[in-house]
Amino acid sequence: MCEGYIEAAFLCEKCIQSLPRTEQATLRQNSTEEVVGTRAAAYLFYEKDHPVQQLIHRMKYADQPRIGYHLGRQAAIEMQYTDFFDEIELIIPIPLHPRRLRERGYNQSEYIARGISEVTGIPVDTTHVMRVRHTPQQAMQSGEERKQNVAEAFAVIHPEQLYRKHILIVDDLVTTGETMRSCLKAMRRCRGAKFTVFALCKAR
Ligand SMILES: [Zn+2]
Repeated sequence: MCEGYIEAAFLCEKCIQSLPRTEQATLRQNSTEEVVGTRAAAYLFYEKDHPVQQLIHRMKYADQPRIGYHLGRQAAIEMQYTDFFDEIELIIPIPLHPRRLRERGYNQSEYIARGISEVTGIPVDTTHVMRVRHTPQQAMQSGEERKQNVAEAFAVIHPEQLYRKHILIVDDLVTTGETMRSCLKAMRRCRGAKFTVFALCKAR
């Protein structure tokens, strides 16, 4: 990887080519679907000590959310030639708790969603799903603590407005899938709605 990975917010053409793609948009029963329990695809594999880990870290913790926008855009450019986005009407990024949002200043998943939206023309909605429980950073918790903290972590406002919509839910990184499953559970209140999941990265 060239210095573009480390220094710049954007990747050079060569680094974009070498991203560890999952190709899950064309794979049924892929490893992301297995953990979230619905139609899903991740764009990249996430591995410790790989340059992608640095990218994600900078996007989330180093005030560089534009990385999310550019990777979301790149993912959509490649995936629009599959049927993955077909019939999706709305993109909802996994929200942060208001307190976390204040601390960080931005929601990286919203940036990813806006990148996808720019390519696909599908609108982004950030008004219907809320994170109602403030949880500690997941990296510092055990699996059991994490499971308890994400249970009932989300609420849906005016679920009737999402009646029968096909919604793409966007997250930055799927590991155990618990956060996404918790969000999907809250969204069951949207009668007749259909859900597809996009993750920027899937941990191997
Ligand atoms: Zn490069």
